[in-house]
This record gives sequence, structure tokens and C-alpha cells, in this order.
Amino acid sequence: MEYISTRGSAPALDFEGATLAGLASDGGLYVPREWPRFSKEEIAGFAGLSYAELAQRIMLPFVGDSLTPERLLELTTQAYGRFAHKAVTPLKQLDEQQWLLELFHGPTLAFKDVALQLLGLLFEEFLGRGGDPLTIVGATSGDTGSAAIDAVAGRARVDIFMLHPKGRVSDVQRRQMTTVLAPNVHNIAIEGTFDDAQAMVKRMFNDQGMTSRFSIGAVNSINWARLMAQVVYYFAAGLQLGAPHREVAFAVPTGNFGDVFAGYVAAQMGLPVAKLIVATNVNDILHRALTSGDYSAGTVTPTAAPSMDIQVSSNFERLLFDLGGRDGAALAAQMAGFESTKVMQLTNAQREGAARLFTSARADASDMANAIRWAWEECGELLDPHTAIGLHAARNAGLPADVPVVTLATAHPAKFRDAVERATGQRPTLPARIGDLFEREERLIELPGDYDTIAAHVAAHAVARG
Ligand SMILES: *Cc1c(COP(=O)(O)O)cnc(C)c1O
Repeated sequence: MEYISTRGSAPALDFEGATLAGLASDGGLYVPREWPRFSKEEIAGFAGLSYAELAQRIMLPFVGDSLTPERLLELTTQAYGRFAHKAVTPLKQLDEQQWLLELFHGPTLAFKDVALQLLGLLFEEFLGRGGDPLTIVGATSGDTGSAAIDAVAGRARVDIFMLHPKGRVSDVQRRQMTTVLAPNVHNIAIEGTFDDAQAMVKRMFNDQGMTSRFSIGAVNSINWARLMAQVVYYFAAGLQLGAPHREVAFAVPTGNFGDVFAGYVAAQMGLPVAKLIVATNVNDILHRALTSGDYSAGTVTPTAAPSMDIQVSSNFERLLFDLGGRDGAALAAQMAGFESTKVMQLTNAQREGAARLFTSARADASDMANAIRWAWEECGELLDPHTAIGLHAARNAGLPADVPVVTLATAHPAKFRDAVERATGQRPTLPARIGDLFEREERLIELPGDYDTIAAHVAAHAVARG
């Protein structure tokens, strides 16, 4: 399997190369040259596999010659063995139509663990084959940072520098990053928003002064391997609800468009998906893009669902590439326009293509609180604010009653205890696997939101190429 850039001019890479590269050198994102497709019989044959086995089967066509099937199964078994639930991503019924797919049973309580536990092992595997040590530079609105740090802390030949917007992540999120004291972990709180942090990370990938000295890698969902790992749970849920013989819809709380793009990939691979419901908070660039074709970045409004406080959704580029006939040169021009003006109008082909599979909804603070209350009062379930935004969209999607709707439960309610308590009066308890988080020492550096300062800090602490 070969990976090509959405902007058409970076060299094609194999799976190992794309995993280590993260962002393509032309500023684009890597995607497989074509989508592998399973037949109905093959999908029916996945029923009854364990999660680790299913993950191996779904990922094999993407991995190509970079890993043997046996080695891939060892890695998925190790990655998912750390989850606190035997089913890894259990499915829970709320009412006749609504279901929750619990993706938060990993070590840091959010769905990011599902992909990052595997990605940490893939880095270790590929770096063990020689080559340069890896300098991971990432931006986080809270959950990617803790999941990535957990996945690579203490591993050989890799350093991680994680930028988070100061004061805009929850206390649990911050402590899950800053209390990891392994010497290869570097936490940076920057003045500014997540979008500022993400823009600096992207700039570093294209900064010759940095890339000539360091081999820079990505753990954000611009890294293809993350999306690949997320495709698996769409199949896992679909199979339980009757796939391949029955269509299922998914409601996905969305920020960077990574998680919901994985659902799009599952549909391309043959999973019968009735609709993908893109749920946003008031930072609604994706809702506007999908309803009126207007992809223009506003300013970020902080909300109780901080992992969705995003105005520039990196992975949307992967969808636009596919819907625009995979024309890298045309997309490069479209994205260059967006990067200079922060305004972009989708083409008719992109709008019509998206409308076939996607629908969207926007939830404000009261929609979110009402969804948390409904789930608590009617179903006895405590939901985190992100999941509640997904459920709000799911319940308002107007789908036929015989289509099951699965809301992706992206975080454990205890990760956002204050918001959950405000809506329900119930304070979720932190699961035992979090341990003494609030007693542990924190380590981080605060820096201004200035690219040169950040780059100098990374250069002073990272291990250079060999
Ligand atoms: C990251 C995150 C999201 C958004 O996921 P994307 O892949 O960026 O769209 C939603 N909810 C939670 C809890 C998250 O951590």
C-alpha cells in the first residue's frame, strides 16, 4: 500500500514512512492511494473476532509490507490489552434507537487512547529498525496530549514536545500530561488557542532549519496511522448491530474531523453506514461547511467541550481531496487560498459529495446540558460534554426509527467532572486507573505563543539526527 499527499507534490511513502513522517513535505496529509474494500462475505466473517483480531484484519491492507500479519496481531493485542474493559470499546443501549459506543476505557480516559496506544508501539517498532531518533511535536486541546504522552513516555529513541493552550484545558487533562516526569516528555503551555498551537506545529514541519536537524514526527490526527486505528471501532459497533446486513448511523462529536473521517473510511471499505452525523459545539466551522459550503474560520469560543474548540479542522482536507476527484494540484490551490484568507467556499462537487453521507448539527451550552440531563434522568448514564453534543445531534438527526444511531462516547465523564456536575448535580468519580493524579508533582514550561521561541526550545532539548 502506498500513501500519497493530498496536495499532490510530496513523494509517495509506504506505511512505515507515512507513520514516521506525519505531515507531508508539501503541507498536505497522507492518504492511501486507494481505499481497500471488503466484500459482504468478508465483513460477515469478522463477527465474533476479539477486538485485537478485528483490528488486525481491518488494518492489514493499510500496513502492506511494513509489518507481517503475525507482528501486527502482537501489536494490537499489546495495545488493547491495556484497556480497562474486556470488550475494549463496549456498546451500550440508551433507548430503542440510540446507542453509546464507549471509547474511553483506555489509560487516559478519552478515545485518543484507542489510536495512540497503537501508534506508540508502531513508533517503537519502526525506530528500532535504525534511522534517526524521532522528535514528536504535537498540539493538544487536552486529550491528544495525555494519550500521546502515556503512549511514548520512557520509550527509547523518541522525545515528545506537547503544546497546550494555557488555561484552556481541564485540570484532569493538564495533570495527565504534566505529572508524567519521564525525561523524554516536554510539556509546553502556550499563550493562545489550540489553533495557534496547531499552526505552530504545522509550521515546524515545513521549517528547513528544524527538519534538517531533527526528524520531526506527528501524533495529531494528521498522522494517518491514527485514523486507521479508529476505523476499527466503527466496524466493531456495526457488526454488533447487524452489519453487513443492516445500515447503522454514527453521531460523532467533532473537532479536527479525524474521528468522523475514520467513519468515512469505514464506509469506503464496505461497512453499510446510513449517515455520519457531524456534531459541533458553537465553534461550528464544520456545520457551516456541510450546510452551506462556507468553510471560513472564526475566532475560537472556549466551551465546556474544549477538545472541540477548534476552527480549523485539519482532516477535512482529506475529505475534500476525495470528493474533488483526488486532484492534488487543485486542492493545493484551494488550501493555499484558505491559509491566506481564512475563507473557503466548497465546490459543488465537494458539497454534493459530502451531503450523500454526512449531515451535521451544532449544539450550544444549553443543548449540551439538556443532553447530559436527558441521559442521566432517562437512562441513568453520566455523559461527558463532548459525548452529550454527539447525543444531541443523534437525537435530532431525524433518521428513520429502524436505523440504529451510535453516538461515539469520546471521553469519560470524570475527565470533565465540573461540567457534568453543573448539569446533573452528580459528580462522577475518577476511575481507579487514574490513581493519585492530584497528589503528583507537575512539570511544564510556559512560553509565549511565538513560533521562534517554541522552535528554539525544541531545538535546545531534542536529540538531533544521527
Ligand atoms: C479529540 C476529541 C474530540 C474531537 O475529535 P476529532 O478527531 O478532533 O474530531 C471529541 N471529543 C473528545 C473528548 C476529544 O478528546
